[in-house]
Amino acid sequence: MYGQMLETFIQNQVGENHIRLIILGIDALDISMVDKLDLRALKQLQYGELNVPLSPVSGYPHSPSVWATFLSGNEVEIEFTRGRVIDFIVKYMPKIRLIRRFLQTEFPNRFIGMEKEELFVDFEGVKGINVPFRNHEVKNLVELVRLRNKLSRQGTIRKFVRVHNSRTEEIFNEVINTSEVHKVIFAFIQSLDTLQHALFLRNSLVLEAYRHMERCFSYIKEKLSEDMIIIVSDHGFDIEKGQHSYTGFYSCNHILNPKPTHITDFYGLVNKFLNGEEIT
Ligand SMILES: [Zn+2]
Repeated sequence: MYGQMLETFIQNQVGENHIRLIILGIDALDISMVDKLDLRALKQLQYGELNVPLSPVSGYPHSPSVWATFLSGNEVEIEFTRGRVIDFIVKYMPKIRLIRRFLQTEFPNRFIGMEKEELFVDFEGVKGINVPFRNHEVKNLVELVRLRNKLSRQGTIRKFVRVHNSRTEEIFNEVINTSEVHKVIFAFIQSLDTLQHALFLRNSLVLEAYRHMERCFSYIKEKLSEDMIIIVSDHGFDIEKGQHSYTGFYSCNHILNPKPTHITDFYGLVNKFLNGEEIT
């Protein structure tokens, strides 16, 4: 009996991974805000800053490029386009609402610069939920952008926060309900970035969004306590300037070894985990 227990223990430590690796990508989750509000669930056991590539155009981290870098392990510069004709229609024919909506939500986005990259979400045994460049569902983003343009109207802010909250809860629930056959799950939440861009002047709403994220994450952490959980963000948000900050964030419910320092580190980490190698 004891021998069997010991064997299981050793297997769990060094052999095949019996736990799953869950990675949550939370766009614009800011390390100084997590520290300031002392959000202990989000900080987990180990947390810190991540170096991320800065856009040569703006000098700030550019979300699609940082996520492409994270998913491929290579520094990738992304040009985001929907094609000139579509951009023209979206820009100059705002009255044709239905066409505009269709083009913004249904027409596949084109990301120039991703053609040759191999993403870890495509590896066998990995499940991707709402992944940029793969199955990112943009309807909620379009809805948030639409609401952002009329925030001064009564009730809009509440609606805006509601869209963000329910999308976050929906994605977390999808992670919780994902079948055990997947060894690695990556899920992406975009709307915290849009929320901070829209509401940074309304400080208390941003703080409330962070507290909501803390509550949602506490729930998922409790449900998936047997798994290894990593949080990654592509940059934070400076609410004084209304701009992205220069570094990303990570945290883990185990002590990762080596300690991640750059957003590219996670590609190798997923590879190692899938090969049954130790990452802690
Ligand atoms: Zn971002």
